[in-house]
Amino acid sequence: MIPPLLDMKIYAAFDGRQNKKPLHELCMELLSEQKNTWQDLQQGYESLEAVRVRDITCSGFFVRVQHNPGRIRSTMAEVGEKGINGRPCFLCLNNLPEGQKGILYQEEYLILCNPMPVFSGHLTIAHYDHQPQSMVANIDTFLQLMKDFGSSWTVLYNGPKCGASAPDHLHFQAIPSGNLPVEKEIFEGERVVLITEIDGVQVSRAEGLGREMLVLEGDEPKAMANTFKRIMAVLREFSNTDDEPMMNVAGFHNGKKWCIMVFPRAKHRPDAFFREGDGRVAVSPAVIEMGGVLVTPMEKDFEHLDATIVEGIFGEVSLDRGIYDLFQF
Ligand SMILES: [Zn+2]
Repeated sequence: MIPPLLDMKIYAAFDGRQNKKPLHELCMELLSEQKNTWQDLQQGYESLEAVRVRDITCSGFFVRVQHNPGRIRSTMAEVGEKGINGRPCFLCLNNLPEGQKGILYQEEYLILCNPMPVFSGHLTIAHYDHQPQSMVANIDTFLQLMKDFGSSWTVLYNGPKCGASAPDHLHFQAIPSGNLPVEKEIFEGERVVLITEIDGVQVSRAEGLGREMLVLEGDEPKAMANTFKRIMAVLREFSNTDDEPMMNVAGFHNGKKWCIMVFPRAKHRPDAFFREGDGRVAVSPAVIEMGGVLVTPMEKDFEHLDATIVEGIFGEVSLDRGIYDLFQF
């Protein structure tokens, strides 16, 4: 049974069986309806039109820097236990803004419009219940989301300790495909190098992007889920942790197969984030940043960021190449 609090928030429902409309069409309808009826969202998209962007060419790759003052709360979010316990969870149903509605997805999630968008479509797919962010337990949903959204959308995941602004509430994001530079860069030249193949799933590493990145490609959901779990187990062992290994994930389904990009992480924020005064760099790397779009709410950082700083940040927060030695299945 659908809880009454959830029922009030449903704009439409999608379960993949009875729907005549594809999910991406429903989402575009939601976006346009919410822009008309929810003022915060309208303002969020108006301020997105005013953001400045600048491309920085690094060694063998590029990043796009976006000066987006609206993202200050997300970039500076206090995501430690103290910060999380001291605030009402903004993804819980009883805390959603009055005007916010969503698409009930597979009877378990609400697809919501992000009121502080980074791109021209920016959705949050939040479980209706307050439960911890975890990929292992929810890889099947992640795969289904990519398939249901179709090839024009990319689905994102931030680990609870490296970018999720609500690490205590299970959620994914979706953005229109083609916004992250890596989506194109991995297919250029000989960048993707096959490491191994497991049950028909190709596991590769992407080279020359200034940060480590694994690419999983396959067309069978069970094999994709199992391979992903094996990769996670390797990362967990390498990171010497019982928790979920730090990582960001972006992926899409091109109509034939899945392509999942995993960014294994060594740390959440670079040292420069915590410096006092002029030396501070307000960039908090999460999946969008690892994908090549560096969002900063500060004009100073927008002006000052250059290839050396960007490469330094990536090098610092990314796990090192030693991980590949462990991928001998
Ligand atoms: Zn919550």
